[in-house]
Amino acid sequence: MKKPRILILGAGYGGLMTAVKLQKKLGVNDASITLVNKHDYHYESTWLHEVAAGTIAPDKARFAIKDIINTSKIDFVQDTVLSIEPDDKKVILEDGELEYDYLVVGLGFEAATFGIPGLLENAFTIGNINQSRLIREHIDYNFAMYNNEKEKKPERLTIVVGGGGFTGIEFLGELANRVPELCKEYDIDRDQVRIINVEGAPTILPGFDPELVEYAMNSLEKRGVEFKLGAMLKECTPDSITFEKDGEQETIATKTTVWAAGVRANSIVEKSGLEHNRGKVEVSPELRAPSHPEVFVVGDCALIMNEETGRPYPPTAQIAMQEAEVCADNLAKLVKGEDELEAFEFINRGTVASLGHSDAMGAVFGDKKLFGFTASLMKKVIDNRSLFKLGGIGLLLKKGKFNIF
Ligand SMILES: Cc1cc2nc3c(=O)[nH]c(=O)nc-3n(C[C@H](O)[C@H](O)[C@H](O)COP(=O)(O)OP(=O)(O)OC[C@H]3O[C@@H](n4cnc5c(N)ncnc54)[C@H](O)[C@@H]3O)c2cc1C
Repeated sequence: MKKPRILILGAGYGGLMTAVKLQKKLGVNDASITLVNKHDYHYESTWLHEVAAGTIAPDKARFAIKDIINTSKIDFVQDTVLSIEPDDKKVILEDGELEYDYLVVGLGFEAATFGIPGLLENAFTIGNINQSRLIREHIDYNFAMYNNEKEKKPERLTIVVGGGGFTGIEFLGELANRVPELCKEYDIDRDQVRIINVEGAPTILPGFDPELVEYAMNSLEKRGVEFKLGAMLKECTPDSITFEKDGEQETIATKTTVWAAGVRANSIVEKSGLEHNRGKVEVSPELRAPSHPEVFVVGDCALIMNEETGRPYPPTAQIAMQEAEVCADNLAKLVKGEDELEAFEFINRGTVASLGHSDAMGAVFGDKKLFGFTASLMKKVIDNRSLFKLGGIGLLLKKGKFNIF
């Protein structure tokens, strides 16, 4: 009998975790499994703000996919997915096409710029290793240029972060620590540097406990971050941003705008012909696409409603990895001819946002709030746990965060 072909798209938290679990559950004779990813490495998306700020090296946040998967069980194809054709059960790649019996879509997120003029063209985004490294290099370059020009340009030393959500705040925490180092390195007075957060809502971190929000704001303000709250970004040019607050428009000269205020599912999903809800596939409890049950969707491309709040669960690495485990279980069951599939249930293990190397805040174990060093320690435990789950003790020892102090 022909072996079923399982095709996994994306080696992020969702896709790679599905592959890692499947290789444990299925033997080489059970199924032929292929994993496709744009790069030959996986990157920890949850560490990209550190790469962007320059507080960790890009190589710290990535590792070779072939070091994690069992290549005798999984065929790894380094290629870019161009489109999914679910009616024909095939996927078009830059360098060919692949057919499947079962598909797992784990293609992650991309920036959503909501049509704000100039944002797509002129702002930076923290979406992958290359984009994050570019931000680091760009900031370094502008600091280096500052003292090499007769006419001083303060816009070289002004960094604007659009969005005070999770990613924006974590990035600001890293920047606030990195800027004093940059000032020392490039002979610049710290007072000449501005780090500005522009957030449309009246508060940063909407949805977080007010005590945690206050802690985060105080921590960042103490390190020189300025907040413009209730401020809607109107335009971004290579040298400025304009926002509107209380009916008044203000323009700030800056050569560095980092847009961290919105992500959406990879647009390949929307274009694929799979039934979707604002670009994401609202999956069945078994994580299948309702319009094409042989297609499973995990991570940021999947939409799952939280029955308690009536709103979708936010896209996180935490939920992506939990989904991947259920997805792998269900695929293994289907391959073995079992019809009773597992229903996904999210277990909320809490959320901790870092505010730099040694500061953080969040809530874990239900509603236990953590601040400062304890929270920062917990954040490192969470980061290390994800490495361990993906690549065991070997990966943890190679890439883990053990620099506690
Ligand atoms: C700075 C930052 C901090 C975050 N912090 C946290 C946190 O603390 N906790 C938390 O739970 N979540 C956090 N998140 C969110 C979390 O990173 C995402 O929810 C998670 O990465 C989603 O996993 P995924 O598998 O869907 O996608 P990803 O991890 O993004 O993986 C997608 C994969 O698909 C590949 N790919 C994309 N397009 C193509 C293509 N066309 N062809 C081939 N391959 C392709 C990519 O290269 C990548 O390997 C953070 C996100 C950011 C950006």
